[in-house]
Amino acid sequence: MKRIVVLGGKESGTGAAVLALQKGFDVFLSDNGTLTPEYVGILKKYNIPYEEGGHTHEFILNADEIIKSPGIPEAIPVMREIRAKNIPVISEIEFAGRYCNAKKICITGSNGKTTTSSLIYFLLKNAGLNVGLAGNIGKSYAYQVATENYDYYVLEISSFQLDDMYGFKADIAVLLNITPDHLDRYNYDTRNYINSKFKITQNMRSEDCFIFCSDDEITMGNLKKIVLKAKMLPVTQTRIIEKDGAYVFENKIIANYNYSEFQILIDDLSLNGKHNVYNSMVTAIAGKILNISNSVIRASLVGFKGIEHRLEKLGKVKGVEFINDSKATNVNSAWYALESVHGKIIWIVGGTDKGNDYSPLFELVKAKVRAIVCLGVDNTKIIENFKPIVPVIVETRSAKIAVTKAFELAEPDNTVLLSPACASFDLFKNYEDRGKKFKKAVEELMSE
Ligand code: ADP
Repeated sequence: MKRIVVLGGKESGTGAAVLALQKGFDVFLSDNGTLTPEYVGILKKYNIPYEEGGHTHEFILNADEIIKSPGIPEAIPVMREIRAKNIPVISEIEFAGRYCNAKKICITGSNGKTTTSSLIYFLLKNAGLNVGLAGNIGKSYAYQVATENYDYYVLEISSFQLDDMYGFKADIAVLLNITPDHLDRYNYDTRNYINSKFKITQNMRSEDCFIFCSDDEITMGNLKKIVLKAKMLPVTQTRIIEKDGAYVFENKIIANYNYSEFQILIDDLSLNGKHNVYNSMVTAIAGKILNISNSVIRASLVGFKGIEHRLEKLGKVKGVEFINDSKATNVNSAWYALESVHGKIIWIVGGTDKGNDYSPLFELVKAKVRAIVCLGVDNTKIIENFKPIVPVIVETRSAKIAVTKAFELAEPDNTVLLSPACASFDLFKNYEDRGKKFKKAVEELMSE
């Protein structure tokens, strides 16, 4: 019997273990941390042998294949030994894809994956299709393949997952954008990061569709160097597209596929901001490819409620609007957030800096930001960068104090925007924790 060892016992790892067991493999799961009761419960329910608190090499190095969770670095000793022994290593998505005949719509990119995946899923649901949403969202793909029977999957795929995918093929692949992020994981080589994002197109055939942003320089630079068999569907906000694809004209999105056109006014979209115009264009094109009616595409783009921590509007206090964009953990997404706000901004920014270059923000910040409230342990870099262009900069170390300070500094009609451009680990568990604490502080302010 073939032995599969799963490294990592969170959502994707336990899901992969359940699917591997179902497919008749000898399965073992190993996690060097502590497993949560939820996942221990699943492993026990299916009688899957596991260990936690360390990796026992002798239980792992006898595997025929390893399924590695995306969070596990290559540099740890057990990974080095696995590589030295040439044991094949795959991601959970690769594994689950082997057992899934559903049509796969796969979304990757540096920013906008969750938003676009959720929006496309909402569209397919509205169209009455039997569809699952997986990848970085909700229940793992492998678990759903083991326990559900969907005709379609919308999969949010990070570059870490793509790194260990070989045979997988998307029917519709979406590459939203490429901005250098997580470079620490790619030996600080942008080339590696770009290659890993482009793996979303691997194995695609002429009947498959590749949706990409033709305004994205890095994407376009790389497309010039490679040949893809898939149908090419660009989305752009800077020019008119004669053939299949989507563009903006007279404040409208126009999406074309196979001589059939869809149009919608940008003002009618439920999601605001230039970045969400891209996300909506991608969704419209995916809808056209899947032959979904224009009325359902329209209703979906108008009716989508948005998702937590992404430009989430929390309401107003004495005319001051509060927006939670805690998920903006890099400079690029903070740029889109600053761009999307009308009027003046009190900007809450900071956290763990991932080697940020703040210069792309200077122009927008100069034009729109009245004051900066730093929310981080070490704010030196932010202060150095923005001192020359922002008159007021204060430092805080809790969401509650940041909200109080920002509200003090705001005038009616201003917007308090939490869009940190940094990771959250210096003061919070993760970006959700930061966003929730921010929301709680705003709620308290509202009820005062
Ligand atoms: P991801 O799943 O890729 O991290 P999210 O959908 O969670 O992306 O959005 C993360 C942040 O990126 C949001 O706060 C938003 O401001 C910004 N963003 C969303 N869509 C885009 C896009 N198409 N281009 C650039 N930034 C975007």
